[in-house]
Amino acid sequence: MSERETLDVDVLIVGGGPAGMSAALRLAQLQKEKGGEPLAIAVLEKARETGAHMLSGSVLDPSTLKDLLPGFKGMGAPLAADVRRDDIYFLTRTGKFRLPITPPFFRNHGNYIISLNKFVKWLGGLVEAEGIDIFTGFAATEVLFDPSTTSGQTARVVGVRTGDRGIDKHGQKKSTFEPGVDIRAKVTILTDGVRGNLTKSLVRRLGLDDGKSPAVYAIGIKEVWEVPAGRTEPGRVVHTMGFPLKMEEFGGGFMYSMPDNLVSLGLVAGLDYKDPMFDPHVAFQHLKRHPLIASVLEGGTLVRYGAKALPEGGWYTIPKTYAPGVLIAGDAAGFMNSARLKGIHLAMRTGMLAAETAFDAVRKGDMSEASLKAYDDRVQASVIRKELYPLRNVHQAFGYGTIAGAAFTGLSLVTGGGWFKDPLPAHGGWTRIRKIAEYYKDARPDPESTVNPVKIDRQLTFDRLTGVHYSGTRHPEDQPSHLIVHDASVCATRCREEYGNPCIRFCPANVYEMVDAGDGTKRLQVNASNCVHCKTCDIMDPYQIIDWVPPEGGGGPQYEGM
Ligand code: SF4
Repeated sequence: MSERETLDVDVLIVGGGPAGMSAALRLAQLQKEKGGEPLAIAVLEKARETGAHMLSGSVLDPSTLKDLLPGFKGMGAPLAADVRRDDIYFLTRTGKFRLPITPPFFRNHGNYIISLNKFVKWLGGLVEAEGIDIFTGFAATEVLFDPSTTSGQTARVVGVRTGDRGIDKHGQKKSTFEPGVDIRAKVTILTDGVRGNLTKSLVRRLGLDDGKSPAVYAIGIKEVWEVPAGRTEPGRVVHTMGFPLKMEEFGGGFMYSMPDNLVSLGLVAGLDYKDPMFDPHVAFQHLKRHPLIASVLEGGTLVRYGAKALPEGGWYTIPKTYAPGVLIAGDAAGFMNSARLKGIHLAMRTGMLAAETAFDAVRKGDMSEASLKAYDDRVQASVIRKELYPLRNVHQAFGYGTIAGAAFTGLSLVTGGGWFKDPLPAHGGWTRIRKIAEYYKDARPDPESTVNPVKIDRQLTFDRLTGVHYSGTRHPEDQPSHLIVHDASVCATRCREEYGNPCIRFCPANVYEMVDAGDGTKRLQVNASNCVHCKTCDIMDPYQIIDWVPPEGGGGPQYEGM
């Protein structure tokens, strides 16, 4: 039987997104600036190749990029287009109203439309050029703690374990079995993204969210289209409010125009919705049929599809981001500006600050909590706080409806975000979903039905499985499901009765299906190989019995050009 291997490094970065890559580049810079014994640095990335799991709108605020890589343009940064025009529309089912003034947080002049996949690939190339190893296709499944931690002490993180390879779908070892590797690090920087599996377990174990507002998320569904020439000009940014979302629902649409007649469009919908029959995939199809969007897309072709959760809760939901031996940066900690729909620059900035803290700690030989608190001090003194703190109550205000939220967001610019109550009462994502009987008092819908159906014409609108195809998702079939449903008996009984199995609607990839059990009842079928790794089920399941864990060997979407 193979022995478990171990690898020792000084700084381990878990997650090769914008935060992780920025952390690695900043460490390389510090090494050059300060000299001395070179640090051993490694980046772990669960995707088969750098950037493959990266998905975002995206309009990049380049403020952090300018600080990290001042010569970014000459270095070939893949910037698809300078933003030249911003439009905001309020949509009704068939009508539109263009806001005469663009609110400050939606102004994008000076920003760039990018493909996050290409951008992260480019950052990854720079990291490797610095001699830093990026281990792709290796998912970390467990945080390792110092076994010598005594009771009363906060457990010290000493690295991570990667997942075993070569296990079949029945959980049996195949002839190719290899145990996961223990990567031991003086400082581990977790940049494992929205609802990262390691960050989630660490926050729970160490109570890093004690006293914080509960995390709130949204789901973003995005497509890239090639449209007929002349429909839109590169650099045009459109944001929408209203239809297809109800006034009680947080979110909106976006459409960003790139060169070569490519358009990136999507819908972001808060996962703190109340309607158990809400279906984000169907809502997105409705958005595409709206005349404002359809007039651009008609006659075009779908190029790519993807979905991902976003951390929407803001400043008060960010957990404590340091503990002995570990720092948390980027989306994993919830650093996102939901009013601006931007997080890449914050992810990069937190990655840089985490790197500076880790570098100092390793050089001092002090990885204690007191030493790593310097990361939080840096965040508090940085432009991150300046940007997020005035908006600290914005998402909570949207809990009172779109109009209240929009008004409060505007007011925050004047008042600095304070209110009579500060923090405003918060609510976690799934805790707002209502039971069917409570939400649909008069006519109870059939769980298998769609309350607000849309015609799938395969020209503008597509079903979920077509979306999965266009996401390039692949998982080897003979492996255990990476979606752990701890008690599937709840699905056919309590959940069906109380919530109408919302997983069949909130999952954008048709992973969850209620199929005939053969005895007149239904049973849950999990089509794990469809999973696009959006994490929505891990967040939204009303009984909190679904755990998303990384699949073996780099499986997942291939977000080429997204
Ligand atoms: Fe997203 Fe969960 Fe569906 Fe995977 S199974 S696509 S993580 S909702």
